Amino acid sequence: MTAVRQLDAVLAACDERRERDLDDLMRLLRQPSISAQNIGVRECAALLTGQLAADGFTVQTIETPGHPMIVAEWRGAPGKPTVLIYGHYDVQPPDPLDAWISPPFEPTIRDGKLFARGAGDNKGQIFAQIAAARTWLETTGGLPVNVTFLIEGEEETGSPHLADFVAAHRDLLAADLVYTSDGPVHDDAHPQVVYGVRGLLSVELRAQGATTDLHSGNWGGIAPNPAWTLVRLLGTMLDADNRVTIDGFSDDVRPPSEAVVAAMARIPLDQHNALAAIGLDRLPPPEGLGYFERLMTRPTLNIAGFASGYSGAGTKTVLPSRATVKLDMRLVPDQTTDDIFAKFRGHVARHAPEVEVIRHGGMEPSYTPIEHPYAAIVRRAVATGFGREPVDVPLLGGSLPDAVFTRTLGLPSFLVPYANADERNHAPNENIDVARFYSGIRTAASLFAYLADA
Ligand SMILES: [Zn+2]
Repeated sequence: MTAVRQLDAVLAACDERRERDLDDLMRLLRQPSISAQNIGVRECAALLTGQLAADGFTVQTIETPGHPMIVAEWRGAPGKPTVLIYGHYDVQPPDPLDAWISPPFEPTIRDGKLFARGAGDNKGQIFAQIAAARTWLETTGGLPVNVTFLIEGEEETGSPHLADFVAAHRDLLAADLVYTSDGPVHDDAHPQVVYGVRGLLSVELRAQGATTDLHSGNWGGIAPNPAWTLVRLLGTMLDADNRVTIDGFSDDVRPPSEAVVAAMARIPLDQHNALAAIGLDRLPPPEGLGYFERLMTRPTLNIAGFASGYSGAGTKTVLPSRATVKLDMRLVPDQTTDDIFAKFRGHVARHAPEVEVIRHGGMEPSYTPIEHPYAAIVRRAVATGFGREPVDVPLLGGSLPDAVFTRTLGLPSFLVPYANADERNHAPNENIDVARFYSGIRTAASLFAYLADA
C-alpha cells in the first residue's frame, strides 16, 4: 500500500491521540531546561530521550563541550528518503516572573492556547514532529521514510557547538532534506514555508588620536580627531542610495530567480501599516525597491552604535582621543562571512590604515531554492496539515544557523513555523495555539507520506 493511502488512517489516529500528545508535551514543559543558567537541561534531555526510546526510536545522547545533543533515529525504510528533523529542548530564562499570568513551568491552557516557557520555542514544535512520527509507528508498524531527529540543548545560547557537531557527524546525520519548525508565523491566517535566512557579520572599528582626551581650544587643529576619522571612513562605505560601496562587497549577490520574485509578490503585507507601526511613512532610498526585495535580496551595512567624546547634558569642549563604531552586515546568498570580512578589512586598510578592525561573531546565509523538488512536497504537507496553502517566504531578514545543514551537509532545508504570531517566544506568557500544535502534527505526518511516494 502506498504511504499516501495509509495517510488517512494515520491522520485519524493523530486526531484520536490529541489528548495523549498534549499530556506528553505538558510533561516536557514542566521540566525547566534553561541553557543560559544551566537549570534542568540534563534532566530535560533525559526525559526526552526516555520518551523517544519508549516511542520506538534508537536514541543517542552525545556529549558536546556544552549541553548534550540528542540524536534519535528510525531507519526502517531502505530506499526511501531520510528526513533530518532539527529542534531544541532548551528554553530561554523565564524572567521577569511576575509578568507571567500562570507560572512558566506549570503549563496552563487559556482560550485555546497552551502557556509555558518552551510551549512554542521549541518544545511544542519539535514535539509535534515526534508525535507525528510515533503515530505512524503505532498505526502502521513503521514510518514510510527514514527519520533522524537532531535535538540540541544550546539553541537559546547561540548554538555554540552545533556547527562542529554537524561537521563531525556527517554520517550519522546523512539525509535527503532537513525539516525544522521554530518561530511564529507572520500572521495566523497564512501558514508559511521559509527557504533561507540572511547571514550576519559583526565588526568593530577603533580609531585612536592623542593618548588622552584634550581641550578642543588648546589642541583643536593640532591633534587629529578620531571621530572624524571614523565618520570619513564610514562615508566611503555607503552611497546616498544606501548601496554598500566596499569594493567587491556585492560581487556574489545574485539576482532573485523568477520564482523568488513571484513569491515575494505573493507575501501578504500592508506596507503602509507596517511602516506606520514604527512611525515611518516611506521607505528610504533607493526608489522603486520593494519591501521584501530589500529584506531578501540585498545585503546591508548597519551602524549599530557609535561612541566617542561627550554626549551628556549641555556641552563639553572636548577633543576625544578615541572613537569606536560597531557595525553589522546582513548577508545574502551566496556571500560568505570570511570573504566579506576580507573585503571589509581591505577597504579599511586602503582608506584609513590607522583604524583597527575587530571581527566579532557571525553566521553564514543559507538558502534552499524555492524550485527544489522537495519544496512542492513540503508545501503540500503544510496545506494538508493547516488546511490552507502556505505562503512561500524565500528568505528571512534575520539569521539562524541553518547553513550548518545547507552548506556543511549540502542538504535542502525547509523551515515551517507551526506557532502562532503571538507566540511570545523569549517573553513572558509564551504560548502555542493548541489547534496549531495539532496542525503541526498533521503536517509532519503528511510530509512523511508525501516524501515516501514522491
Ligand atoms: Zn528561542
